[in-house]
Amino acid sequence: MKFICPKCEEKLNIEEGRAICKNGHSYDRARGGYYNLLLSQKGGTHGDNKEMVLARRAFLDAGYYAPLARYVAAQVAEYTPAGGAVLDAGAGEGYYTDFIECTLRELHGVADVSAFDISKDAVREIGKKNSRISLAVAGSYHMPVADGTIDTVVNTFSPLALDETRRVLKSGGHFIMAIPGEMHLFGLKSAIYETPYKNVVADTELSGFELIEDEPLTYKIGLDSPAAIKNLFMMTPYAYRTRPADREKILALESLETEVDFRVFVYRKV
Ligand SMILES: [Zn+2]
Repeated sequence: MKFICPKCEEKLNIEEGRAICKNGHSYDRARGGYYNLLLSQKGGTHGDNKEMVLARRAFLDAGYYAPLARYVAAQVAEYTPAGGAVLDAGAGEGYYTDFIECTLRELHGVADVSAFDISKDAVREIGKKNSRISLAVAGSYHMPVADGTIDTVVNTFSPLALDETRRVLKSGGHFIMAIPGEMHLFGLKSAIYETPYKNVVADTELSGFELIEDEPLTYKIGLDSPAAIKNLFMMTPYAYRTRPADREKILALESLETEVDFRVFVYRKV
C-alpha cells in the first residue's frame, strides 16, 4: 500500500483489515474497500454528491469517453516501468483508473495502481468496479502518499495541485493530465447559451516539469435520449451556472450532437 498516515505521514501497513502506522494511528477499511484518510469531516459533505457521481457513471459507462480512456491508459503504460507505482489523483468514480489498471496488467503483466478522491461516494464506485486498485478518500491538496514514491501521477479533469503532484513523484517520473480543449462540449454550450464561448486552455508550462507530449483528441458524440443529455449536463460546470429557464431548455432536448475535445499532456519531473 502506497498510502501514508495523514496525521504523522508514516507509512501505513495493513493489519487485520485496518491500515495502521507505527505511531498507532489506525484507519478502518470501509465496506467499500477503501480507507478514509480525510482528517476532518467538518463542514458537511466533500466533493461530488451521489447524484453527480451516478450521472457521471451512467454517462461514462455508455462509452462516450472510451477513446480518451484508452488513450490515457496507453500513455500511462508507455511511460510507466513494469510494476511501477501509478497514482490517480482525484479519480472520481474510477472510470479512467479502471482502464489504466486493466491496460497495465494486459501490457506489463502487472499493475500497481492507487487512487483517491475527496468524494466517498465516488471512491465507493471505484471499489465496485475494480477491487485491485488501492483506494483512499483524500484530497488532492494533501495527497496521502510519501515523497518521491510514485512513477506516474494521472489527473483527468481534476483540480491540479501542482506542488503535491511534484512532491509524490519520483525524480524522472511522469505526470499525465487530461483537460478539456477549446471546443470541448461546444454543441452542448450552443444549446444552452446565445453566445457560447470556447474554453480557455491555461498555460501548459508547469514549474518543475518538462512537457514531452501534448496531444489533442477530438471527435463528435451523439446523445439520443433526454436521459443521456441530462447525465452529460450534470457532469459539467454548467449544471451549477445555468439559469433555470436555460436548464429546462437543455433538459427538454430529445437529441444532441456535440464536439468533445480533450488535450492530453505528458510531463516529466525534472
Ligand atoms: Zn500516524
